[in-house]
Amino acid sequence: MQEYRLFINGEWVETQDGEVLDDINPSTGEVFARVHQAGPKDVEHAITAASAASVAWGKTQPAVREEILIKAADCLQARIHEIADVLIDEAGSTFGKAMFEASFVVNLLRSAAGEARRIFGETMPSDGPDIFSMSVRRPLGVIAGIAPFNFPFLLACKKVALAIAAGNAFVLKPSEETAVTGLKIAEIFEQAGLPKGVLNVIPGSGPEVGGRLVDDPRVKMITFTGSTVVGKKLAVQAAQQLKKITLELGGKSPLIVLADADLDYAVDAACFGIFLHQGQVCMANSKLIVEAAVYDAFCDKFAAKVKSLKVGDPRQPNTVIGPLIRGAQCQVIDRHVQDALDKGARLLTGGSSESNFYQPTVMADVGPDMQIYREESFGPVVSIIKADDHEAALYIANDSEYGLSSAVITNDLQKAMELSLRLEAGMVHINDCTVFDEPHVPFGGVKKSGFGREGGRYSMEEMTEVKWITIQMGKRHFPF
Ligand code: NAD
Repeated sequence: MQEYRLFINGEWVETQDGEVLDDINPSTGEVFARVHQAGPKDVEHAITAASAASVAWGKTQPAVREEILIKAADCLQARIHEIADVLIDEAGSTFGKAMFEASFVVNLLRSAAGEARRIFGETMPSDGPDIFSMSVRRPLGVIAGIAPFNFPFLLACKKVALAIAAGNAFVLKPSEETAVTGLKIAEIFEQAGLPKGVLNVIPGSGPEVGGRLVDDPRVKMITFTGSTVVGKKLAVQAAQQLKKITLELGGKSPLIVLADADLDYAVDAACFGIFLHQGQVCMANSKLIVEAAVYDAFCDKFAAKVKSLKVGDPRQPNTVIGPLIRGAQCQVIDRHVQDALDKGARLLTGGSSESNFYQPTVMADVGPDMQIYREESFGPVVSIIKADDHEAALYIANDSEYGLSSAVITNDLQKAMELSLRLEAGMVHINDCTVFDEPHVPFGGVKKSGFGREGGRYSMEEMTEVKWITIQMGKRHFPF
């Protein structure tokens, strides 16, 4: 059994005052690894190392950062199956999801390398006659990232890669459930030659390790991805320090199917968009809104397809539905399903579980009084809601506290564009499902799905400070 230590100041160190915990494989229930958890002294050590390293790192040439990020991409490419194996064993990813996630990060690292050369400032006119006025972007210093379990490699790497491309040092706290995945990021950057202290990875408890990172004044920004409940707490905590924070939070993303859509295509899109990684995807289309004229036909075709999805061992290449990260999530889904049934919804398929495996579940005739209409289930369960027309569909889509992703399937592009502008979501995908990401796009949400954008130049803007600089080339007239 492998034991993993903390990565602080370029060294693999034992915890000074934390515990060593079992890391469980959610598919088998067996211990997958033993992981050192950071205690207060370790957090202090990591922040001190990052602070010290941030000074020299902030002054490095873009070419140096670029080279390290490209090397990291090459190292990852060479180790892609090893990373995918960890994503299967630790996070319960299916083989396909694991390979997709690891491969995405290769591109992400390459695209982050290019960002290091594009940290642009501006010159601007001045009302003063002899003034040269400009803005420059400077790194913030130390940034801390707190990451979730579901896409643990991709989401953490997005934060790490762009923060260091911008010249910051980083402290990463991975999810308790996917600590090894987080530590693999450190292994890749160590192999790529990142200087000591620029990246530190410290697994540990959310409130304790995460809380200390938020409270420490040497950490200039928190980049958080996780649930809305925790995000709200962190927003309050960060406000005590007036600390910058970006929040990528939960969702209840709608997919609208209009009556003129290609129904077979809509069924395929809706199915992928909810059942990828067993529905444990922030932008999953868990709310399918279907125009009345095609509602019954859509329900029949969709249920038939879902019944064919294979549930089981995530290592089997044809498995679609693997395990949930924790068994307790099955009870959340059971509650949502039962509440919907009690209030008149129809169960088209699924609705039961065995250990951590929940059957893919489809509820039709879902209405606004049901929990499943509003709350994030974070599992393989989807609601189908009937809408009289496209205006009603828009109303139902926006009738949510969340606003992460959304999608519209129709052949009427004009109507789709109009809906896109009126959908209360950070992202809209026309003729697609709601699950979509690329390294350089502005990823993020509105309403209770958070604020701030991640990806490419959008991250670079969040992770740098704009500074206004002037040069007085003549003599300024002072009134006294
Ligand atoms: P979570 O909020 O339970 O945990 C996320 C991280 O926060 C973990 O590292 C955890 O240890 C840490 N944490 C928990 N309590 C903390 C505290 N008091 N202080 C500091 N840190 C704390 O989320 P999860 O279960 O890991 O992930 C699922 C959630 O994440 C879902 O709601 C999902 O929608 C959301 N998510 C959002 C996005 C996005 O981009 N918007 C992406 C992935 C997941």
